[in-house]
Amino acid sequence: MKPELEKLVTRARTLFDDLDLEAVRSWKNAMPDRKAIGHLPVWAPRELIWAAGMLPVSVLGGGDRLEIIRGDAYFQSYICHFPRSTVELALSGRLDALDGMLFPSICDVIRNLSGMWQMLFPDLYVRYLDLPQNFDLEVGGRFWRHELEALMRDLEALAGRPISEDDLRLSIAAFAANRHAVHRLYQARSREPWLFPADEMYIVLRAGCVLPPDEHTELVERYLELAPGEAERQRQDRSRIVVAGMFCEQPPLGLLLTLERAGCFIVDDDLFLALRWPEIEVEITDPPLDGLIEAFLRQGALSASVYQPDGKRGAWLVESVERNHAEGVIFCAPSFCDPALLEQPMLVAALDESSVPHTQFKYSEDTGQFAAIREQAGTFADSIRLWGEA
Ligand code: SF4
Repeated sequence: MKPELEKLVTRARTLFDDLDLEAVRSWKNAMPDRKAIGHLPVWAPRELIWAAGMLPVSVLGGGDRLEIIRGDAYFQSYICHFPRSTVELALSGRLDALDGMLFPSICDVIRNLSGMWQMLFPDLYVRYLDLPQNFDLEVGGRFWRHELEALMRDLEALAGRPISEDDLRLSIAAFAANRHAVHRLYQARSREPWLFPADEMYIVLRAGCVLPPDEHTELVERYLELAPGEAERQRQDRSRIVVAGMFCEQPPLGLLLTLERAGCFIVDDDLFLALRWPEIEVEITDPPLDGLIEAFLRQGALSASVYQPDGKRGAWLVESVERNHAEGVIFCAPSFCDPALLEQPMLVAALDESSVPHTQFKYSEDTGQFAAIREQAGTFADSIRLWGEA
């Protein structure tokens, strides 16, 4: 690997391994009175946090790099792993750099976690963020405006200063540029997936969970320039796969590597929705909050966390398969993840209707053995290559 790419990847790897949020602490220490606000998956209005002069930090659990000592005591055995490691991170002081936490309404586990946070950390700013599930501007839009305005007032109180319209405009523009870079990376990987190894792309994207938006934009853009320059990244004959179900609890890096080694190229996924939503351009309106509200309501991207009343569940997945010229879908969901697993039969029906091959397995963020997954994914990839179906 050429030295500049190696340096970039090493920096991303350091941020990935940084469970103590040292990068966030450094950012805060660089200027007096800086604050950082954490948020859980899948999405939070990071623009508002940044407009208030605070760093939005996407908290994604401890993965396979954290021993759970106290976190297990807070949850039954039939709950996913992500909240255990998140509690463990907090109780071990690793999240102390965060001055507040937002808990978006994605599932009951996260709702309950917000209550736990209020009890465990009574002096911390904690807010349960009810995302709209009605996308009519007059109904869901009014509700969402009320939520965002209340959040803005809270953030202003915490920051000790008002959020001006110019602050918000600049912040919206910074995150729009970041999303643009992230989308370009997804498109580039879809075109030539052999140039962007899954584990490398993952850590480059994940750096955006702790970096200021402009720094992450620069990192992604540089990666887009450097990665194609590696001579050993040659075109290979593998099956093009969309992976669905990983929007909250993160897969271990080894799992992504295993899929590649089993003969798959991941050409789309539902990781890091916090960095990718809203998928449409946020217009800089007057006042700027209007543009943010409308973009969230009109955005094309969907996941299990978004209500769809029209019976078209799964259309987004079929659309992703077509857009990315994928040959199959792997449902790769965390064990005990209700949103992902309850949605799966509807997604399977949509794929069957369009004759898209699919397979499925479950993981936990601390899964350490990948032999069975490699066998299953390898058989799936081979059968697609040999017969065009699984
Ligand atoms: S992994 Fe699934 S069940 Fe667990 S907190 Fe996330 S969305 Fe909820």
